[in-house]
Amino acid sequence: MTNTEKKFPLSLSSVVDSRSAHARQIATPQTALKNLARGESRAAPLSSMRKTTTSLSHLTQSPIAVSPAVAHGNPHGMGSDKIRQAMVARVAQQGVQDALVLGALAAIPRHMFIESGLSSQAYIDASLPIGHHQTISQPYIVARMIELMRNGRKLHKVLEIGTGCGYQAAVLSLVAKEVISIERIKALHELAKDNLRPMRIANIRLHYGDGMLGLPQVAPFDGIILAAAGMEVPQALLMQLAVGGRLIAPVGSRSQVLQLTERISHDQWATTTVEACHFVPLRAGVI
Ligand code: SAH
Repeated sequence: MTNTEKKFPLSLSSVVDSRSAHARQIATPQTALKNLARGESRAAPLSSMRKTTTSLSHLTQSPIAVSPAVAHGNPHGMGSDKIRQAMVARVAQQGVQDALVLGALAAIPRHMFIESGLSSQAYIDASLPIGHHQTISQPYIVARMIELMRNGRKLHKVLEIGTGCGYQAAVLSLVAKEVISIERIKALHELAKDNLRPMRIANIRLHYGDGMLGLPQVAPFDGIILAAAGMEVPQALLMQLAVGGRLIAPVGSRSQVLQLTERISHDQWATTTVEACHFVPLRAGVI
């Protein structure tokens, strides 16, 4: 790991140190597309999925409120718990140690966030397509990023940029008191709502908008996690991090690294480069 302490704003060159980024298994959209090409047919097209505007925030359950019936749902004729436990064991083998994060990964039924045609691949450690050229992140990277952001702390308010299908938001809901997640693609924002509704998770708020701007009216956040890679971390997000808070983000284009930034005072941010990764791009504006 490299560690640099910088005054705001941070430049990309100040944070990227490719020497320290060691190659792990990298999740890529390409992996996802390869998986798709292996013969998995798409079930219902996303455009045919139900669209509603029900807000999740009216639900009133405790943060650990994944109903057993849902969590133990059954993707292809057998219980998913064992397959999911095996996935968690692999993630732990890759170095994720935070028991709360591993527990959250074990509790969230990943197969319920992807199209049924891909559900046989739900618990392999890979990203998978969710439509609109986007992917559900690889379980290892989801766990690793949350572990780094949490750093053993009790998390109150966490911001996620890039809701996608809502999987990571669901995992986050079991490690933070309140999760706010922003998505810039309307159809995916709606898809996440549909995916999360049966789980009756009370502490997730989904927003449709440009996450590069953050959500100043809800800031500060004690954790911010980006699920898409920009050339640098948007300054608005650094400003919305609480002092003592941690932001984790992929940074770069073809070559990307995970970058961890801690706000150490009102005008000081410390940045660490963690490891290589591969994410879909962070884009401005909404569609
Ligand atoms: N969190 C998801 C991963 C989704 S992929 C999971 O659980 O697996 C990354 C997502 O980031 C895409 O849906 C993409 O549309 C979204 N994204 C990219 N730029 C964004 C921005 N500026 N604001 C909000 N979402 C953005």
